[in-house]
Amino acid sequence: MKCVVCKRGETRPGRTTVTLERGGGALVIRNVPAEVCGNCGEAYVTAEVTRSLLESANRTLRAGVELDIREFEAATA
Ligand SMILES: [Zn+2]
Repeated sequence: MKCVVCKRGETRPGRTTVTLERGGGALVIRNVPAEVCGNCGEAYVTAEVTRSLLESANRTLRAGVELDIREFEAATA
C-alpha cells in the first residue's frame, strides 16, 4: 500500500520492533511482522498483530516486570 506518512513510498512485508509501555513497565517485542515503507521506514502493524501484542503486554507487565525484551513468536506463545 501507499505510505501515509511520506506519501511517496510503497510498503513491503518486513519486520519491525514494537515498544509497549504500561504503568512503570515496558515491553519491547522484536521481529514483529509489519508492512514497512521502502522510503521513510515507517512500519504498519496489522490490527490482529497489535491485539496480540497488547495481550502479551498485559500478561507480562501485570507480573510487575519493569523491562522485557522478546521475539514476536515467543511473545504470542
Ligand atoms: Zn513512507
